Amino acid sequence: MANLLWLQGGACSGNTMSFLNAEEPSACDLVTDFGINILWHPSLGMELGDNLQKLLRDCISGATPLDIFVFEGTVVNAPNGTGQWNRFAGRPMKDWVRELCDAAQFVVAIGDCATWGGIPAAAPNPSDSEGLQFLKRTHGGFLGTEFISKAGLPVINIPGCPAHPDWITQIVIAVATGRMADIDLDDLQRPKTFFSSFTQTGCTRNMHFAYKVSATKFGQRKGCLFYDLGCRGAFTHSPCNRILWNRQSSKTRAGMPCIGCTEPEFPFFDLAPGTVFKTHTVMGIPNELPEGLNRKGYIDLTMATKSAAPTWTEEDIFVV
Ligand code: SF4
Ligand code: SF4
Repeated sequence: MANLLWLQGGACSGNTMSFLNAEEPSACDLVTDFGINILWHPSLGMELGDNLQKLLRDCISGATPLDIFVFEGTVVNAPNGTGQWNRFAGRPMKDWVRELCDAAQFVVAIGDCATWGGIPAAAPNPSDSEGLQFLKRTHGGFLGTEFISKAGLPVINIPGCPAHPDWITQIVIAVATGRMADIDLDDLQRPKTFFSSFTQTGCTRNMHFAYKVSATKFGQRKGCLFYDLGCRGAFTHSPCNRILWNRQSSKTRAGMPCIGCTEPEFPFFDLAPGTVFKTHTVMGIPNELPEGLNRKGYIDLTMATKSAAPTWTEEDIFVV
C-alpha cells in the first residue's frame, strides 16, 4: 500500500481532468489493483476544514507515511513572496508544499505549471509563479537545485498541458510498486521512457514532411503542419503519436499543429500575437529546424524531395 497525496496550486485542473479520464489503468484501478491509497485529491478528497488540516499535518509529521506527493499547478509566490494569493487549508499553499515535499518519499510534478511554470509564469507572470524545481528551463524553481526527496530523487517531472493520463498513471504505479529505479530521468527530470522521442515519431504526416507537402488549414487531411502552421512536432519531446490520446488520435493526426506543450519554453513567445500556429521563416527557411539539421541541409533536402514528391501526396488522404 502506498499513500498518495495530490494538491493543486495555480492551475486550471486540466491534469486532474486528464488523470480522471485514465482508462488502462483507471484512477479506480490504481486503488483496487495497484494498492495506491489516495489520501486526498482536490476532486476526490472528502475531508474539509480542520479534518483536512489534520490530514496534512499528519503527513508532515510522519504520523501518516507520505509515499508520493503529487503537485499540479504552479507554486504561487505573489504578493511579495508571501504566497497569500493562493491560500489553502488556512495558510499559503506554498508553505504546505515546502513541508510536504520534505516529508515525501517521492515528489511528482504533473503538468507544465508544476514542472516549469507553464502559462501562469508567462511574462509578466503577475502571480510570481514557478515550477517545483524549474522556472522555464532554469533549474531551481521553488524547491531549489539541491532538493531531493526522502527516497533520493529530485522532483519527477511529467510535463504536458495537460499530461496524458498514461504518463501520469504509469509513473505513479512505477513509484508505488518500487520500480522507480528502472526509470531514467533526462536532464529536465522527465522520464526518458516517455520523453526521449519526438511528437513527430509516429506522426501519420511524416511522409508529407519528407516530401515538403504542406497543410495550410487546420484539419486538412493531407500535408505536414510544419511548413506553414507552426507545428513543433519535430522538436518537441513527447510520445503523443506513440501513446495516442483516447487510444485513437493525436493533435497532428487530427490536423492541428503541435504547440510544444511538454517543453519548458511553453507557451512559446509568451503567446505574443501572431506567434502561435505560424511558421516563422527568413527567406522561406523556418527559423527553427529539426534537431541536427542545418539551414544548408534543409535547402538541399527540401529542393530534392519537393521535386520528387509523388502525386498521391497532394491528394486528400485519411490521416486521422
Ligand atoms: S505534422 Fe508536425 S509532427 Fe507531423 S510530420 Fe509534420 S511537423 Fe512532424
Ligand atoms: S501534440 Fe504537442 S502540444 Fe499536443 S499534447 Fe502532444 S506535445 Fe502537447
